[in-house]
Amino acid sequence: MTLSQRIRNLPKVEIHLHLEGAIPLPALWELVKKYGATDEVPDIATLADKFRYRDFPHFLETWMWKNGFIREYDDFTFMAAAVAEDLTHQNIRYVEAFHSPGDFHELHGLEVARITEAVRKGLDSQRAGIEIRLIADLTRDFGPDRARGWLAEIAGTQSMQIVGIGIGGSEHNHPPEPYEGVYDEARSLGLRTTAHAGEAAGPASVWGALRCLKVDRIGHGTRAAEDPELVEFLLQQKVPIEMCPISNLRTGVVETLAQHPIRSFFDKGLLVSVNTDDPKMFDTSLDAEYVALANELSFSLTEIKKLIENAIDSTWADEPTKTRLKTELAEA
Ligand SMILES: [Zn+2]
Repeated sequence: MTLSQRIRNLPKVEIHLHLEGAIPLPALWELVKKYGATDEVPDIATLADKFRYRDFPHFLETWMWKNGFIREYDDFTFMAAAVAEDLTHQNIRYVEAFHSPGDFHELHGLEVARITEAVRKGLDSQRAGIEIRLIADLTRDFGPDRARGWLAEIAGTQSMQIVGIGIGGSEHNHPPEPYEGVYDEARSLGLRTTAHAGEAAGPASVWGALRCLKVDRIGHGTRAAEDPELVEFLLQQKVPIEMCPISNLRTGVVETLAQHPIRSFFDKGLLVSVNTDDPKMFDTSLDAEYVALANELSFSLTEIKKLIENAIDSTWADEPTKTRLKTELAEA
């Protein structure tokens, strides 16, 4: 059996995945057609070509362009069902997935609670063998006041299986500190916390997320590598780091995968996991990430299993769920 077949067979876990960046291209193209944009995007190949980026801001611009085709509550159900089915086919067993309802409130005037309900309905249509929980991404570009409002709206939708919050978006323009109150509020509602940090901005952003927002996890953390004191802190405090290697390559955070700090972080003993971020916008999958780490950074199959175990330890699942996922992994 080849290494890629062995990786394919491993039961996997993903904790940094944006639903709106994981829509299989045929499903997204259906939405493009629904809204009559076939002059601009005549076929799936043209859609795939849109998903190549000059830099991180260009990626964010493309992200919002794509969100223009998710306009009605039914579209959220449709896209979430397509994402869940795709994840199941990759032998992914447990996911904590971001969704960004605020983007669509701003774009199309939709209500964040109803968006969340529509997403949940789509996810639940594909229950077999996979558990998907939600992290509300309170996109930082719209500021902490909007974030506080959205948080209040989703707080009433506990049955939607929202387990935490995050702040994605333009990290380079919006440092974490103004979100301190929002994060305090989320904790008081029983939610867990993560923040994109050390992706489009440097170590100061990671320090801010840790000290000011008191996050449970760091999203990306790639540029923490620039500050040895920070790396030591992440190690000592066992802060889970949701790393997304191919995403960082596609948006130019690293120039080559060989330069990605995941190898040195892993060797030092940091609690790093591997994730796809926006797999259909970055032409990646969890299997592809692990194969690339084996090829470019010499990760062995045993080390890849340890990365999956790290992902399980980093989830916000209860202990019986973690134990079950680890048993499945050990038996694979
Ligand atoms: Zn992300």
